[in-house]
Amino acid sequence: MKTAIIGFPRIGENRELKFATEKYFRGELAIDELESFAKDLRQKHWQLIKKSGIDGIPSNDFSFYDTTLDTACLLNIVPQEVTALNLTESEKYFALARGYQGEKGDIKARPMKKWFNTNYHYIVPKFEKETTIFVSGDKIFREYHEAKALGIDTRPVIIGPFTLLQLSEFDQGVDREKIIGELIKAYKEIFEKLADLGAEWIQLDEPSLVKDVTKEELTEFQGIYQELLADQKIKVLLQSYFGDIRDAYDTVVSLPFAGIGLDFVEGRKTLELVERGFPQDKVLFAGVVNGKNIWRNNYQQTLDVLKQINHDQLVLTTSCSLLHVPFTTENETFSAEINQHFAFAKEKLAELVDLANSLAGSEEALKTNQALFAGSRFTENQAVQAKIKALTEKDYLRKPAFEQRETIQKAAFDYPVLPTTTIGSFPQTREVKLTRAKFKRQEINEEAYDQFIAQQINEWLEWQEKIGLDVLVHGEFERNDMVEYFGQNLSGYLFSKNGWVQSYGTRGVKPPIIWGDVAREKPITVKWSTYAQKQTDKIVKGMLTGPVTILNWSFPREDISLKDSTLQIALAIQEEVLDLEKNGIRVIQIDEAALREKLPLRKTDWYTEYLDWSIPAFRLVHSKVQATTQIHTHMCYSEFTDIIPAIDQMDADVISFEASRSNLAILDELKQQNFRTAVGPGVYDIHSPRVPSVAEIKQTISKILAKVPLEKVWINPDCGLKTRGIPETTASLINMTEAVKQVREEL
Ligand code: GLN
Ligand code: ZN
Repeated sequence: MKTAIIGFPRIGENRELKFATEKYFRGELAIDELESFAKDLRQKHWQLIKKSGIDGIPSNDFSFYDTTLDTACLLNIVPQEVTALNLTESEKYFALARGYQGEKGDIKARPMKKWFNTNYHYIVPKFEKETTIFVSGDKIFREYHEAKALGIDTRPVIIGPFTLLQLSEFDQGVDREKIIGELIKAYKEIFEKLADLGAEWIQLDEPSLVKDVTKEELTEFQGIYQELLADQKIKVLLQSYFGDIRDAYDTVVSLPFAGIGLDFVEGRKTLELVERGFPQDKVLFAGVVNGKNIWRNNYQQTLDVLKQINHDQLVLTTSCSLLHVPFTTENETFSAEINQHFAFAKEKLAELVDLANSLAGSEEALKTNQALFAGSRFTENQAVQAKIKALTEKDYLRKPAFEQRETIQKAAFDYPVLPTTTIGSFPQTREVKLTRAKFKRQEINEEAYDQFIAQQINEWLEWQEKIGLDVLVHGEFERNDMVEYFGQNLSGYLFSKNGWVQSYGTRGVKPPIIWGDVAREKPITVKWSTYAQKQTDKIVKGMLTGPVTILNWSFPREDISLKDSTLQIALAIQEEVLDLEKNGIRVIQIDEAALREKLPLRKTDWYTEYLDWSIPAFRLVHSKVQATTQIHTHMCYSEFTDIIPAIDQMDADVISFEASRSNLAILDELKQQNFRTAVGPGVYDIHSPRVPSVAEIKQTISKILAKVPLEKVWINPDCGLKTRGIPETTASLINMTEAVKQVREEL
């Protein structure tokens, strides 16, 4: 029995890649130094995977930023405005990812979107009329070669053409036929070159197959692969993940792939599909170890599934790339009792090998695992469970209705037109992080730490007043992370020390672990919110994270439903909301940055398996506040054009969201659907260090005003500013308030 993995966390055991790349961004490391650092890291990872006993080892799953961007650069899918700057290869690469502002020109970063139902983000490729596809990069070949030189024969990975087309943006007038023709030619060339270098396999990732695939799309898929697979020397593995491929299954198995990778964890119908028939001449890569969650695999359950598959050429693999879980539990400090329940990336390698051995008849690992699952582990909270059971319809309903609240709040707040605000956080400078670290290590006491936080808050409040923002924020200096901070004050949560997962580029998140029933133990944000409010006559927004986001950015339990877990969190946050209100906080923002994240990939499941409980869970949080308390919410990467009615049903008073990188595309839809919630479409992109000019922001505002009624518009950046430096933050916000001032005068 062979084993394989789809991809491995490239950031390194201690996020080495992040730190090295950021040094390069700051000019402290030359590009060849960064390259050589990355080379060593790749070597370390390949050797680790090999030593674990995994047979199928991937290459080119490494990336400095994002593998979709790598694929675009490999195939010369680079917009004209970028090509025109005559940048070096690496400048070009990072310009697409982060924008470029320098002596060679000034361009924005390409839009970034959520990668399927994960918190990873990819850079959206763009096809223009002028785009000519050819093999213009060599990373995939270099990395294959690099591993080979170490005596490791890897399986290079790239995104397949079908998914690439699905994820890309097309300019008007682009000839899709021509693009497809060029793509096929380029992929063929890649196959050939890799085969010449000695590669036996190539892995083409086609996760778009797990979505609803239309007849036309299927025909396109089939057309592409018929040509692509004709007389191939290299074995092609068609790799799917994040669900089952029910719409495409028959087509996929009928094509001459050498191997097919299927997800048996998230793919609810995968087993059923395979039982219908799987060609004997193909290798089945069975994704049985969850690549997305951190719990130990239940070996007995997995073995039962594998027995039903009944296929000779079977390779055991993960359900998706291990990119989505942290590196290893080895550096954690959980008790042995707790730690035995977890498997991060490195431990999952061992699980695959255990499973292969168990299938071959070895009993040892299986017995230990059975014992683990026979014991109990969860902390139950009867009171919370009873509260959930007692919820009724009216607990989810805020009164009075939106329209009445709108009138009441207009009088109560008396904002100027186009009220300005920010999304919550201000730069978490080195000083802020260091001070928190010192406090954690008990090198400074609570009093000193509090004094430091208070001083940060005071300085930024003063600055916000000075530049004339209307609704202020305290800046979130006391928080490391918008989920962990809450989790730390809720019972039922556990935290890893080093459980980082890549979110985008060099940015990572450290999702907490939901270990038992969740309840609020004590006030969480009340202290700093009320402190800030007391320093100023202006309104300071209270700042909370919503239940759906807390759940979606945690590693969830697998023994109760996501819905029940979310409702538990919602009740805890509801207590916090009411506590803030009681303490004089008049505007409360409840961030649902990750609302979309667990939206099912199949549209047909959206309203029956997700929005039907997640939107009510949000309403539960604020349903009991007074009409004069204004509820804001915020969403990131909000491709929510297609769920606008659901967003309106969150029944918030104001929503801010990301819009600038996607060119405000959502505005038309808001208009069409008569969106009633007041909106703050981000007027500039905070995921890039670029500073927008006053003129540029004014232009954005006028675009917004062309589509949204003036009295519904708020002006704010795209997202929180904590990952930004102070210079670009202050410059950008000064330009933003200046732009608003000018627009107000011109109105
Ligand atoms: N209030 C949070 C902040 O400003 C929101 C962050 C987010 O949406 N990711 O940091
Ligand atoms: Zn955001």
